[in-house]
Amino acid sequence: MKPPFKKAARVIEKIEQAGFEAYFVGGSVRDLLLGKEINDVDIATSATPEEVKRIFPRTVDVGIEHGTVLVLEGGESYEITTFRTEGEYVDFRRPKEVSFVRSLTEDLKRRDFTINAIAMTKEGEFVDPFGGKEDLEKGILRTVGKPEERFSEDALRMLRAARFVSQLGFAVEENTYRALKESAPLLKHIAVERKLAEFTKIMTGDHVKKACEVLVSRDLYRYLPNMEAFPGQLLKAAEILRPGALDETEVWALLFLVIRKENCPRFLKEWRLPTKKIKEIYQIYDAFHDRLSKEWDLYGVYTYGLETSLSAEKIHSLWNGEELDKPLAHVRELYEKLPIKSRKELQVNGNDLLLWKNKGGGKWVEEDLRRIEKAVISGEVENDKRSIKEWLMP
Ligand code: ATP
Ligand code: MG
Repeated sequence: MKPPFKKAARVIEKIEQAGFEAYFVGGSVRDLLLGKEINDVDIATSATPEEVKRIFPRTVDVGIEHGTVLVLEGGESYEITTFRTEGEYVDFRRPKEVSFVRSLTEDLKRRDFTINAIAMTKEGEFVDPFGGKEDLEKGILRTVGKPEERFSEDALRMLRAARFVSQLGFAVEENTYRALKESAPLLKHIAVERKLAEFTKIMTGDHVKKACEVLVSRDLYRYLPNMEAFPGQLLKAAEILRPGALDETEVWALLFLVIRKENCPRFLKEWRLPTKKIKEIYQIYDAFHDRLSKEWDLYGVYTYGLETSLSAEKIHSLWNGEELDKPLAHVRELYEKLPIKSRKELQVNGNDLLLWKNKGGGKWVEEDLRRIEKAVISGEVENDKRSIKEWLMP
């Protein structure tokens, strides 16, 4: 058994010794069967949260109303969730209440897709009542039970479907595929934050093109913030992307670039991206536009900084269907050559200028500083006080 499971098997053993059932479930079992790297293992149990807390000395209540307790054991932490069914679904969103049950099958039944509804014992035996293993082998994404019912219980599952297509490259089973289009309007009821989490995973998955085709052909894109008018642009962005090439921020910059700021100035805001992230995206956007009109030079990489310059260059190369290595190495080389990396490293500051020129402050200070920066970066003057003074006031 693989390392994360091996260690976690001790946790399951303890639950079993206390007289309850416990299994590995969810993404970790799926990823194990796919031979993928496993980040964290989820455990489901017949024990109630209170019972789990009695078994383990160190626990944290992370989502006790949903039946989840975080258990700290052997230097690791594990999310342990009580078997549950999800009672009433209100407004096509997650249920308000959950009821704890003692049956594993009931718990697996409420899970979204067959590939996510496989349980594994600590001995490595699978409990797979919905044919998840077979679907994994065939590369098929299929809901547990009737797709239209499952999507109307929780409309987010439709975006999760596109997300798994992007991450796994799977094909959507016929009935599930049909139901996606019929149920798409229910996405109206889903909070932007939950859409954002899935959309980010869609756009950073290895099979993003396939996933965006699902978003567009199934009409799901219409219910994403500000996407209604831009299905073609979404497909174009997906076409340009290459597996693993761009991080989340860069993907947003690319998307924003294909849509264009003028067409949709509120695009990023309405996705409720954090202000800091929006700023980073704008910087990449600006750097990319500069890059369109000229090659990188020292002043360019200085102005935007290494990270933003690299991001813009990456997008530029992808956009033109070029290799990434060489252009990125060129940007790095330029950055290494910079005599100063920021204004803080300049040997003079505004106060020096005020003293030297014996004038009141004003716009000229910033203008002079910028001229000095440019001269230092181009090698016209050395970065020391005397040289700068002589150069500035000969
Ligand atoms: P990841 O690798 O991204 O964590 P995951 O499959 O583990 O993928 P999670 O969101 O962590 O996804 O959910 C864990 C499990 O809970 C899923 O595998 C699935 O069985 C179930 N699940 C999660 N969200 C839903 C949902 N909206 N409806 C039904 N079941 C869900
Ligand atoms: Mg998970």
